[in-house]
Amino acid sequence: MSYIDSWYTRTLSDTTEYPALAGETDADTCIIGGGLAGLTAGSELARAGKRVVVLEAERVGWGASGRNGGFVSPGFAASLSLMGLYAGTERAKALYQLSIEGANIVRGNVDALGVGDSCKPVHGKIGVMRYPARDALMQRRDQLARDFGYHLDYMPREAVREVLHSDKYHDALYDPQAFHFHPLNYARALARDIIAHGGAIYENSAAIGAVLDAPEKRLRTIGGSVRARDVILSGGGYTTDLVPELRRAYLPIATYVLLTEQAPDRIAQAVTSPCAISDNRRANDYYRLVDDGKRLLWGGRITTRRAEPRDLAALLRKTMVSTYPQLSDLRVEIAWSGLMSYARHLMPQIGRLRDGVYYCTAFGGHGLNTTAIGGRVVAEAITGESDRIRLFEPFGLAWNGGPFGTAAVQLTYWTYQAQDWWKERRAA
Ligand SMILES: Cc1cc2nc3c(=O)[nH]c(=O)nc-3n(C[C@H](O)[C@H](O)[C@H](O)COP(=O)(O)OP(=O)(O)OC[C@H]3O[C@@H](n4cnc5c(N)ncnc54)[C@H](O)[C@@H]3O)c2cc1C
Repeated sequence: MSYIDSWYTRTLSDTTEYPALAGETDADTCIIGGGLAGLTAGSELARAGKRVVVLEAERVGWGASGRNGGFVSPGFAASLSLMGLYAGTERAKALYQLSIEGANIVRGNVDALGVGDSCKPVHGKIGVMRYPARDALMQRRDQLARDFGYHLDYMPREAVREVLHSDKYHDALYDPQAFHFHPLNYARALARDIIAHGGAIYENSAAIGAVLDAPEKRLRTIGGSVRARDVILSGGGYTTDLVPELRRAYLPIATYVLLTEQAPDRIAQAVTSPCAISDNRRANDYYRLVDDGKRLLWGGRITTRRAEPRDLAALLRKTMVSTYPQLSDLRVEIAWSGLMSYARHLMPQIGRLRDGVYYCTAFGGHGLNTTAIGGRVVAEAITGESDRIRLFEPFGLAWNGGPFGTAAVQLTYWTYQAQDWWKERRAA
């Protein structure tokens, strides 16, 4: 299986293909899923001296990790207040602090692995409002500074419109520490790190059978099997029925990205900031300049439909043009979709299923920092370095609601869309 066609695969820095598993092999830890959750855990464990084997059904970073917007910033898919409802204020704060650590882990890895040239991190994120919200933004800025020592700047509307030429936009918060980068080149750099520390990666090697209730676990693929003391399940939105408890506990939600043609002058009539930009819609629009400012990469919309719509590019383009009418003749060169994994509580599912069996999944649309902490805390649990994994205990493997869950998500999304539309209309 090869990668889907995307901006990231067109700018891949390393095209190494890892072999498919053939025959029997042993590991301290076998990781199912070579997305950023599995790869981060693998790299942390391999650096700690564990023999790691990663089984990836397709290619390293083939799933959401290699298709996303590339925005790395603190937080979770769940808001701080929702986290507080499930876990209490103090634990919610500890988790948020971890989410800041997650963004730092990614930044640290890019530096430590020397992959700045291929990952191209660009600092700064503007979170812009579609209606005036000065007081709410100031409150958020002050809360993050007070509770986490995390500093954001308030941007009044005039400052926003100097760099984002859209009359849809009002004020914003600017985060100088957040950044955007090339997530697939980063995933592949983590894979190389695992190999460099004595681990093994097998691509085209879906785990199709598992014996997990003995001290020595066994994972089976079409071509071979792995014996391991510990197993990490990190299949994200592509999780199969291998472990039914996990399959029942998440909903796969699709989201979309497009890449425009090269048109630097026309794009500069709309966007002149090199930062990551996202708006406050619930399934927000997010975009950034890529290819040295010559193209726009634009993402948004969510759906419970797994099949990619035929009019995907047109659908997304409509949102882009409704924000920036000056881009109405900008051609879309390519569009793609990916599946995210959502739990009902909107928080990641990170924990121990039984002795030696860990899960690290459901990172939703906020996975680039949270997969890093997920991978780290699971690795720490396996090496015995910490029990920070327990911070996630309030967010267990709750049933996803089956078809009712899917319908509820779609309905909630439509309700949010209607609420956003109403608020924006009042501000117009
Ligand atoms: C279009 C899009 C845009 C996004 N934008 C952002 C963003 O800008 N910022 C942000 O923070 N987050 C973003 N996200 C979310 C983020 O990408 C994900 O939360 C994160 O990458 C999930 O990583 P993962 O490792 O859990 O899953 P994945 O990256 O999906 O990896 C799971 C892997 O497991 C493999 N697998 C599954 N089952 C098996 C099996 N039985 N055997 C072997 N392998 C198996 C799959 O093939 C897959 O490669 C976005 C997501 C999408 C789809």
